[in-house]
Amino acid sequence: MEFRRQLVECMASLVSQGLMTGTGGNASVRLKGGNEVLITPSGVYKASLKPEDIVKIDLEGNIVEGAHRPSIEWHFHAAIYRKRADAMAVLHAHSPYTTGLALAGRRVEPVTIEAVMLLGDVPIIEFMYPGTDELGDAVGNAMMGHKAAILLNHGVVTAGRDLAEAITIAEVLEATSKITFVASHFGGARLIPPDRIELIKKLNKV
Ligand code: 13P
Ligand code: ZN
Repeated sequence: MEFRRQLVECMASLVSQGLMTGTGGNASVRLKGGNEVLITPSGVYKASLKPEDIVKIDLEGNIVEGAHRPSIEWHFHAAIYRKRADAMAVLHAHSPYTTGLALAGRRVEPVTIEAVMLLGDVPIIEFMYPGTDELGDAVGNAMMGHKAAILLNHGVVTAGRDLAEAITIAEVLEATSKITFVASHFGGARLIPPDRIELIKKLNKV
């Protein structure tokens, strides 16, 4: 029940932070053994989920347990788990600032120490239809060696060793985009100099 509760709380928190829209967004946790996943149900308003709404699936998308359909984005959740042995949680949000900046052709930049340590390089994936195998493959490939990716015209995906890490990355990504937006409004951001970035990464083993 603990993971189910964590998923419910995670979605409610992201809705209250404005990182979700309507029924958008989903999250999953990989279970011990590696081949089964607890994932949020599809098409449900994510702020009012209950632990019993969470669905258990395998990495082929088959329902193992649960009364609801799993998130349509199970393809990319499963693709990340298949490709990244270290990933134990995956999160998808419709973060407005990050999505907007990417649409304007902006990359995530080293505006803060958090952005350098927790995000690194964030790839951008061209628009693909939600819930498809094609998007699943593209996200699985993009997330190799990256903590987050941006889906153009759609939102963001993050992965972590647990749900807390996946949420933290989503929050830092959106905060980074907000900071960039504010700085742009006032004439542009002064980025952390490249030599400092290298030192920060070295000292923190990023
Ligand atoms: P689900 O409700 O099926 O998870 O879909 C939400 C979404 O954000 C699709 O990209
Ligand atoms: Zn979505």
